[in-house]
Amino acid sequence: MGYLNKERILVIGACGQIGVELTLALRKIYGEGNVVASDLRDEHELLKGTGPYVSLDVMNKEMLHVLVIRHNITQVYHLAAILSATGEKNPGLAWHINMQSLLHVLDVAKEESLHKVYWPSSIAVFGPGSPKQHAPQHTIIEPTTVYGISKMAGERWLEYYHKRYGVDVRSVRYPGLISYKSAPGGGTTDYAVEIFHEALEEKRYTCFLSEDTHLPMMYMPDAIRATIELMEAPAEKITVRSAYNISAMSFSPGEISEAIRKHIPDLEVDYIPDYRQEISDTWPQTVDDSQARADWGWKPQYDLQRMTADMLVNLRPGFQ
Ligand code: NAD
Repeated sequence: MGYLNKERILVIGACGQIGVELTLALRKIYGEGNVVASDLRDEHELLKGTGPYVSLDVMNKEMLHVLVIRHNITQVYHLAAILSATGEKNPGLAWHINMQSLLHVLDVAKEESLHKVYWPSSIAVFGPGSPKQHAPQHTIIEPTTVYGISKMAGERWLEYYHKRYGVDVRSVRYPGLISYKSAPGGGTTDYAVEIFHEALEEKRYTCFLSEDTHLPMMYMPDAIRATIELMEAPAEKITVRSAYNISAMSFSPGEISEAIRKHIPDLEVDYIPDYRQEISDTWPQTVDDSQARADWGWKPQYDLQRMTADMLVNLRPGFQ
């Protein structure tokens, strides 16, 4: 554990759906004082009192650079982004924020010789030309959303900074993520979180995707574990310097409704697909994560049933 204590970590976008849980997990491993959380927003309730917090706009490179030097940062987890559904409403902004923020982080990493950089990609890199089932690590990558285009370009930049400047960059293509601690931030798979809240409060939910839209999904504890396991893997094991496919489960709104009905039998769900249906129609239903399994031992722990039971118990303690 000795080397872990020498690391000083900056989490950018720490108040988001992933950031809150990732920051808390990193603080357990590296020590509270060694993980600096940052975001545009006010500090998230769950982060308060758990370690240092600074306000940061990652679009301001100066500010980022000074922060990295002042806090002796050695690793950056860059999570700030405009997500898929929000991105389609303002493509120019999504491109600008997603790309420029990543380039700022990569430049500072190069200039300050940071030990490691983490930046997540997404299954949104795939497009209508990619295989729908078991989308391979290397395949046709022709995304049709601005979010997907920014993730595809981001992956290329990661590889570029690794090859050209030796920056130790690491990334996974997250599927849709389901969590109970912090709310999702404008993605196409947000329904899979909303449905739990509505099931518990109203016993009815109107879904913005059609009943049989199958998408790759993952429970947050698996996503956090994947992230940390990838970041802690020895550098020589990392053969993919763009972003690894990782997979846990695939389900449709109809199937998650059925899983919740095992606990809340009178849940009613109707389906009124909106513009997010078009986005999800371009993504694969399942992805092939054999490279991640082979290189750094990735293995999920949660399937649909186990995730559903855990979500309900955590959202309403005492729930059976
Ligand atoms: P989120 O929207 O919940 O959180 C992003 C955070 O970044 C927010 O707290 C926001 O305030 C902050 N932020 C935005 N602009 C900023 C700026 N200029 N400076 C500093 N902070 C800023 O997103 P998330 O779901 O936690 O996603 C984190 C990363 O994971 C993103 O790169 C996203 O594309 C990727 N990802 C997420 C999912 C998912 O299902 N949640 C799936 C695939 C990939």
